[in-house]
Amino acid sequence: MLKSLSKSAIFKGKDVNMAHKITSKCTACGTCKPECPVEAIDEGDPIYIIDAEKCIDCGACAAVCPTEAIVAE
Ligand code: SF4
Ligand code: SF4
Repeated sequence: MLKSLSKSAIFKGKDVNMAHKITSKCTACGTCKPECPVEAIDEGDPIYIIDAEKCIDCGACAAVCPTEAIVAE
């Protein structure tokens, strides 16, 4: 609960659930994970996943993804 409160404070006026998302175009190459400054990306099965609670929407992961699998929600 505290987490969502602080997030809504940071993203005033924006949807608090806004985050980047990994789509089915992901080939699980692993390039994005080390780029995330808040460690929001984890290896899922079969594709990588972004924890929307941690994601600060910086776009660093999307910039390096070779298959353009990461989109802003
Ligand atoms: S947009 Fe930024 S914070 Fe969100 S998962 Fe990608 S690299 Fe991490
Ligand atoms: S960089 Fe793109 S293709 Fe590679 S693991 Fe991340 S989302 Fe999947």
